[in-house]
Amino acid sequence: MTMDKNKKVAGKHLNNVLDEKLKRIPVCEPTIGVDELENVVEAIKTAWISGKGKFVNEFEQEFAKYCNAKHCLTTTSGTTALHLALASLGIGKGDEVICPTFTMAATGFSIAYTGAKPVFVDCDPVTFNIDTTKIEDEITRNTKAIMTVDLYGHPCDYDPITRIARDNGLKVIADSAESHGSKYKGIKVGTLADITCFSFYANKIITMGEGGCITTNSDEIAETAAELKDLAHSKQMRFYHYKIGYNYRLSNILAGIGLAQLKHIDKFIEMRKNNAMLYNALLEDIVDVPFEFDWAERVYWMYCILTENRDKLMERLKNVGIETRTVFIPMHQQPAFRYLGLFKKLPISEDISNRGMYLPSSSHLKEEQIRYICKKVRELV
Ligand SMILES: *Cc1c(COP(=O)(O)O)cnc(C)c1O
Repeated sequence: MTMDKNKKVAGKHLNNVLDEKLKRIPVCEPTIGVDELENVVEAIKTAWISGKGKFVNEFEQEFAKYCNAKHCLTTTSGTTALHLALASLGIGKGDEVICPTFTMAATGFSIAYTGAKPVFVDCDPVTFNIDTTKIEDEITRNTKAIMTVDLYGHPCDYDPITRIARDNGLKVIADSAESHGSKYKGIKVGTLADITCFSFYANKIITMGEGGCITTNSDEIAETAAELKDLAHSKQMRFYHYKIGYNYRLSNILAGIGLAQLKHIDKFIEMRKNNAMLYNALLEDIVDVPFEFDWAERVYWMYCILTENRDKLMERLKNVGIETRTVFIPMHQQPAFRYLGLFKKLPISEDISNRGMYLPSSSHLKEEQIRYICKKVRELV
């Protein structure tokens, strides 16, 4: 009776969204319900609440299967997944990692945690993903890896990235925190890079509240990552350590939420796609709407539009109960990265950052809500 449960899960949320007292459509909220609740209750009743437990193991097995990856290792967040990925490849001080400037701060931060230097590259104006033609210019003898980001659910163009990495002896780490289930040339994200990182934060395609994971096909990487995420206890003796490890163990309670979510992932992806298609149809003549290359089967995380006078539009939408949000501010414009010295202008990312905003993007948005939002956007833009 999965279908009925799906309905129930979504139905419960529609009530929340349409709650008269709320009088606002949130920019994005999770679609969660009875299956998640059952697993949380079970974890608590059985007292399996730490980083060990059957939900952790089951989630890792099921998510690896979903991505057609050999290994999945859960972590406490997408950010710690990124750090674990870099650490598992031995990246550290003196190394450089190339990544897009137009991304969420966790991408750049994770590189900084290792002591390596993030090297920011401008993005493609259509997908907003790293401009693959600008990667090679940034390679130096210290470059160790390329960190790609599949932004808003659209996969990067992995063929040129893989070729550049192979030609230059670099590793590829994919930050797929926003793109669970998306496909590049028919292959799901999760195995397109040496390591792929996912987030299960509350507003992602599927959620645990907080959580993350890495996937890889490499036994060696998986073994190192498993060791590092659990404080790097030595094989011979627990509490004897040759390496500095981390505690990135995901709680079994949260894994239980994730496991319930994973049952509905294809449904959520479809709901978000239908929402995006309706938005596109109602808005594409007045604003820039998301694009999908024919080599990609994208998913839709935040529904992002570009428009002049964005700030005014956001303010006006807020006044009629529609919550929106601005897109990311590029990494090269962040005070936190000023220690790296002066950056050159990266104009495409700066332009997108100035014009981009998210419209409400919850999976369970109703058609009437999207029609209402679009009507208001058309009136107020
Ligand atoms: C959400 C996100 C992250 C971080 O995930 P958390 O689980 O919030 O730590 C990293 N990268 C990108 C691109 C994201 O969207």
